[in-house]
Amino acid sequence: MWSRILNYNIYALSKKELLNKLFEMDGKVIIISGNPEILYNGLCNRDLNECFIKPYSIIIPDGIGVVLASRIVKQPVSEKIPGIEVMQSMLKECAKRKRTVYLLGATMKVLKDCAENIKRDYPELEISGKHHGYFNIDECSEIIEDIIKSKADILFVAMGCPRQELFIHKYFQNLPCKVLMGVGGSFDVFAGKINRAPKWMIKLGLEWLYRVYKEPVRLFRLIYIPKFLIRVAHSAYIMKK
Ligand code: UDP
Repeated sequence: MWSRILNYNIYALSKKELLNKLFEMDGKVIIISGNPEILYNGLCNRDLNECFIKPYSIIIPDGIGVVLASRIVKQPVSEKIPGIEVMQSMLKECAKRKRTVYLLGATMKVLKDCAENIKRDYPELEISGKHHGYFNIDECSEIIEDIIKSKADILFVAMGCPRQELFIHKYFQNLPCKVLMGVGGSFDVFAGKINRAPKWMIKLGLEWLYRVYKEPVRLFRLIYIPKFLIRVAHSAYIMKK
């Protein structure tokens, strides 16, 4: 069920199996969209690392870099699982099963458009609350109260990494939601502000290239892919010796 990469357990089964688990389990989980950047940052940030290795955290292989890493350690994951696809499938399932969601993150305009588009696509889905993502995460008791009052089953947090993961880690025990998931720029995609890469690029594992093409400031963030893979290869080599 897991692929062991550095000190992380990466979810190694399919997206379908993950979704079944999320809707049938007891207890609460955090879902982390594991890409090389976030996992590399987790090696350098104690709070982030603590969050990633909790028994209730599920790190999904979000990106070709992590799929390659799982092959390097000879524990291949069964498929790439993009966070945005998990969110999309969860919205669909929540509409079917009458579960409620809370949307936290992005700008007010993006959040409004995102919620409207989700309601248009899934009219039966109840969005029990929403709040933009620009606030001090150390002083946000009103937002925490609002999420608790909403009784949402699922909390999607779109505030970019590591902010969203640190928020979830900090308030995990206070929040009664069953699934808490950081979804990065997904609200921008649901709002229609940015597009996902064409299907053929996603299939070839080139979504990162499309994002850099659209937002060249992301170029410097690509350095994390080789940095992460070198760390994984080095650690696999040491273990073998
Ligand atoms: N964001 C936010 N609060 C902040 C900083 C960012 O809500 O303090 C939102 C931002 O508006 C955007 C998302 O977080 O919607 C960040 O998306 P990005 O694509 O940078 O995240 P990634 O997927 O790269 O982690």
